[in-house]
Amino acid sequence: MTDPKLTWIEEELRALQDSGLFINLRVIDSPPGAWMEVDGKRVLNLCTNNYLGLAGDERLKRAAKQAIDDYGVGPTAVRSIAGTLSLHIELEKAIAAFKGVEDSLYLQAGFVANQAALAPLVGREDVIFSDSLNHASIIDGARLSRAKIVVYEHTNVADLEAKIKEFLPQYRRGLVVTDGVFSMDGDIAPLDEIYAVAEKYGVMTMVDDAHGEGVVGEGGRGIVDHFGLHGKFDVEIGTFSKAFGAIGGVVAGKKIIVDFLRQRARPFLFSNAVTAADTAACLAAVHVLAESTTLVDRLWSNTDYFKSEMMLLGFDLGKSVTPITPVMLGDVKLAKAFSRRLFEEGIFAMALGFPTVPHGMARIRVMVSAALSQDDMDFGLETFAAIGKELGVVA
Ligand SMILES: *Cc1c(COP(=O)(O)O)cnc(C)c1O
Repeated sequence: MTDPKLTWIEEELRALQDSGLFINLRVIDSPPGAWMEVDGKRVLNLCTNNYLGLAGDERLKRAAKQAIDDYGVGPTAVRSIAGTLSLHIELEKAIAAFKGVEDSLYLQAGFVANQAALAPLVGREDVIFSDSLNHASIIDGARLSRAKIVVYEHTNVADLEAKIKEFLPQYRRGLVVTDGVFSMDGDIAPLDEIYAVAEKYGVMTMVDDAHGEGVVGEGGRGIVDHFGLHGKFDVEIGTFSKAFGAIGGVVAGKKIIVDFLRQRARPFLFSNAVTAADTAACLAAVHVLAESTTLVDRLWSNTDYFKSEMMLLGFDLGKSVTPITPVMLGDVKLAKAFSRRLFEEGIFAMALGFPTVPHGMARIRVMVSAALSQDDMDFGLETFAAIGKELGVVA
């Protein structure tokens, strides 16, 4: 018997089941390489954000193991009291140099980095201009700041400017924030135009580069590099949990801002530092990328091949210009059925529905990776074609 005060949860869960939106967890027993062990089955991995295959890379694993020997497993302190390891400092310098910014702050996650950066920069008297498709962590960070949140139309700079004109005069300070690469559609923000508009009105600028680092820009230096805006954007949020293959978030950018965040960012002041093993793995990943563009080049050649073949097969890939490949299906039940059939045929690619994407815009999201071989991609394409026909998605 469910406790009467909790029966409302049963109803909520049942509603999720009935609408096809209930999330079932798949359980993994391998590294997220090209092939993975998922729910006891060996499947082709078209699902994780292991863009460069670094999550299982020997260099990262070796660095993490060495760091455990050198530092133990947990820091047992927050960064501002007794948790700052020389590894943290080394990583912050390395990622700042890689991205061509003055300084950076390493945090527990990309999600946390948005919270860490937004609240100190804007408060009750201020206004945040936020793209309508920004990541949940930006939305939550914005809410925590207590600033007024004004949402502008997705990547629409004219609308951004109109909203700045309308709202900025009523507030003390303004900040515009956008994803660099949008994680669900794989399109990119017009960062140069956003910067120009923000400059015109004296508004602070922040970009979340979670899907851009290790992917876009020269050798994976990110979205700011892609647009040649070095030294211009005030704040760049990043994550080490995607292309870098490890874990943790970063706030990078102008030194004055990073200095201020060391004093004010609550996740930095009140939550433990990232472990030595994770930090060392991140550092090794930055070194790999700084030394060679091989992995990033392979990611893009795989992406070009896979996406052009998928389009020839007749699939609608939305507006993606990155390795994020949304296979647009619309109906969430169709997307789930497609994903289930793919899995039966040996392919791991998840269906995404509301609230991750808007209602009626369900999709399978394929993440192309440098880890995929030609045979892997051809197997993926053949299987997509067969199931697409079976379910009436393509002719
Ligand atoms: C994945 C993602 C995050 C969260 O990063 P984590 O390190 O996994 O917490 C933040 N912002 C964007 C845009 C993301 O895609």
